[in-house]
Amino acid sequence: MIDIFARVKALRVVHGHLDGAELIRAFAAEFPGSLGVISSFGAEAAVLLDQVAQVDPSLPVIFIDTDELFDETHAYRESLSRRLGLTGLRIVRPTDEELREADGLWRSDIDACCTLRKVRPFDRVRLGFEVIVDGRKRAHGRNRAEIHTIEAGEDGIIKLSPLAKWDQRRIDAAFEERGLPRHPLVAEGYLSIGCWPCTRPVAPGGEVRSGRWAGSAKSECGIHRLLYPDATI
Ligand code: SF4
Repeated sequence: MIDIFARVKALRVVHGHLDGAELIRAFAAEFPGSLGVISSFGAEAAVLLDQVAQVDPSLPVIFIDTDELFDETHAYRESLSRRLGLTGLRIVRPTDEELREADGLWRSDIDACCTLRKVRPFDRVRLGFEVIVDGRKRAHGRNRAEIHTIEAGEDGIIKLSPLAKWDQRRIDAAFEERGLPRHPLVAEGYLSIGCWPCTRPVAPGGEVRSGRWAGSAKSECGIHRLLYPDATI
């Protein structure tokens, strides 16, 4: 515990001023063969994946196929991976037993459903990495409002969020400047995209993630678990 605590603190001193591709590049060099990216291929995923591809398109990109995703997400994953030249895609799925247990569970217990369809499959692969890169941003508010680009995750894994400080204008500018394709459902008002039973379009002016688990207190699926509150570092 103390080791990861001190390690993150030291990494922040050296790399805390970086973000985007520069931050990914620095960590890919410092943790060769041990850095993985997690992506839902959702509404803003192209921006992070483009930054990853600029560093090294063969970096492992983990995609969790919950078996409840929109068909459009699968099609977008294929076309965006091709467009960016990503060659390290790893599609991770729940086991047959987990799928049986999770059948229809989103109607009665969304936490248990996320555990079976997302958290457990991700847990089976994440321990193979020292660093996991994700696309979380402060601009998405709620419990993401104060995230740092470098954080301590469970089991001593370092969580890297290269876009943590990017606001909506910078994200939109990246789509424009880099000619990145949008997820097809963005045009229908879906601003954050997960499983179809738990994702709704966002009303004009609404929070980006307000369409996820709408009507419940849940705002995260559970895969982004930190070891301890950021303020203690
Ligand atoms: S987002 Fe919904 S359908 Fe997907 S795993 Fe979580 S509860 Fe289940």
